[in-house]
Amino acid sequence: MSILAVGTTAFDSVETPFGNAERILGGSATYLSLASRYFSDDVRLVGVVGHDFPDEYVELLRERGIDLEGLEVDEDRETFFWKGRYHDNLSIGERDTLETRLGVVETFDPALPESYRDSDIVALGNLDPEIQRYVLQQVEAPELVICDTMNFWIESALESLRETLDQVDCLVINDTEARQLSGEPNLIAAAAAVRAMGPERLVIKKGEHGALYFDDEGVFSVPAYPMENVHDPTGAGDTFAGGLAGFLDAQKALTRENVKRGIVYGSALSSFVIEDFGPDRLLDLPNEEILERARAFRRLSEIPDLEPAYSA
Ligand code: AMP
Repeated sequence: MSILAVGTTAFDSVETPFGNAERILGGSATYLSLASRYFSDDVRLVGVVGHDFPDEYVELLRERGIDLEGLEVDEDRETFFWKGRYHDNLSIGERDTLETRLGVVETFDPALPESYRDSDIVALGNLDPEIQRYVLQQVEAPELVICDTMNFWIESALESLRETLDQVDCLVINDTEARQLSGEPNLIAAAAAVRAMGPERLVIKKGEHGALYFDDEGVFSVPAYPMENVHDPTGAGDTFAGGLAGFLDAQKALTRENVKRGIVYGSALSSFVIEDFGPDRLLDLPNEEILERARAFRRLSEIPDLEPAYSA
């Protein structure tokens, strides 16, 4: 099986209450591919960088087995740049975007390499929804299309985003985005409205409060790992989606049980990535550590048998 990881390969500058980082490696395709490669040995990246992107970052991805045939270099423009600031609660939903410079993304028109067209799972990371659709058109028969988006595109390209959503099987967004996209303040109502836009499956991430998964059979809830040391939440969403995509890529069947397991692995990987700035924690995690964290999620929500104890 194989995964197509589509998105930005970026420079990020982040400000958190714990310090700042300038122009570090970021981007949705970066986090997606670095997370999914823990489970899938065929991760194909689609992205674009500018003349200023260092070879060392390209090597970092290549050394981890990510196929970079679909990474274009646009010598005339600058790499996508994003700058964000987190408040004391470190919430992704409440972070401020201080600057977004599209650079190479503005004219990105990805023609998929021939070898990418048979990809099984397409993971559409944050990117212009029109480009997401254009990539999708070129994949022959994907078994699953997972998609992430963010406030920037909801605000600037809503109609185009809705066209993309119509072709998506599983959407992964945070609670703020779900409310913004649907116009519904209540999350359950928001989930129904978003699913009516196309995605049969929907994950709503709630940061330190875990995530909810909705499909035709109902709702599944996963907790967040209780963490004392969160340094930079950037990339948590893409890491979650990458972990889910990677896990499902490694399974024989797309059953509900496997989706639930994938959600736990996605949550486990994103709990690691937020421990440090940028994707550092995601670079060389031992498999046993990932498994141990996933098991910790299971223990966290084990509820013993319930015996009624009413007074009357
Ligand atoms: P997340 O924290 O999971 O929402 O993703 C953050 C990553 O998305 C950062 O590494 C940014 O480089 C990237 N990013 C930020 N804004 C955008 C945007 N408008 N389009 C695509 N990628 C973005």
